[in-house]
Amino acid sequence: RVLPDVAALARAPLDRVLKLWEGLGYYTRARQLHRAARQICREHAGVFPRDFAAVLGLPGIGRYTAGAICSLAFNQPAPVLDGNVTRVLARVFGIRDLVTRAPTQRRLWALAEALVRAAARGAEAVPAADAHDWRARRVAECPCGALNEALMELGATVCTPRQPRCEACPLAPWCVARVRGWTARLPCQARRPATRRRRVLVFVGARRGRWLVRRRPDHGVNAGLWEFPSLEVASGAAPRAAARRLFGAGVAAARPWLKLRHSITTSRIAVEVFRVDFASLGPVRVPDARWVSRRGLAALAFTAVHRRVADRLLAGETA
Ligand code: SF4
Repeated sequence: RVLPDVAALARAPLDRVLKLWEGLGYYTRARQLHRAARQICREHAGVFPRDFAAVLGLPGIGRYTAGAICSLAFNQPAPVLDGNVTRVLARVFGIRDLVTRAPTQRRLWALAEALVRAAARGAEAVPAADAHDWRARRVAECPCGALNEALMELGATVCTPRQPRCEACPLAPWCVARVRGWTARLPCQARRPATRRRRVLVFVGARRGRWLVRRRPDHGVNAGLWEFPSLEVASGAAPRAAARRLFGAGVAAARPWLKLRHSITTSRIAVEVFRVDFASLGPVRVPDARWVSRRGLAALAFTAVHRRVADRLLAGETA
């Protein structure tokens, strides 16, 4: 509703888009969506392209997403291969190689493509759809999209990672893994990396009803989002020394305030939040930082954990 079409998204400043996206995570997607909207306006007269290569050329769109868009929206015989489809294909065709290896990936993509092309050819044989059966209509009107949707849905709801419901599966008669008893070990995947425990110290400095926040760089994790000055430290590091590294010698005290927990993929992060007192009212030299009022605190787009801190401040919680 706020940005109702591609042109509105393209016109919006990035900070506005990030603020609307705040709390959803995966902020790179918001930035890519914004860049894609601008490219569509610049190169395609504001109309989303239908050509596979042009879709693939948009920022943030890889082979899987381009295939999903072209098959589901435009009924083109473009394959999709996500985790769910990989699992279904590896089991049905009894593929025992590591699915992340390049040759296995090529084989899986080739199978997915052969299936969606067969769906496109078989569309002529589909009987006239019953007007009240939306599934039959979908197959008749968009066989490529219906096939890809069905593969993804089957993997998500029936051919699940643990305890697949083979008795309810329409592919059971042809499934190599079911017949040979391999469902528990397929697909063959690399071990997940071990989880890492990390410690981050966050420092909240206040002065005359304003708080010190900084903007993250335009590249890297959480690019362009706002946060309170913070530092990742070793488990035994002293908070006061960390505060001095961030703010210089002008830190008079760093008082413990909150303890939060945050998880990102394989990281388990212990977040310790401190209230900082400065020795003087002189300038605080933190790159890309500024003092913001309550209104600024509410309006800026913060990373998830820093938004929790900002909301506590806005709610009036003090140490
Ligand atoms: S028969 Fe079982 S293992 Fe094979 S595709 Fe269906 S749910 Fe998956």
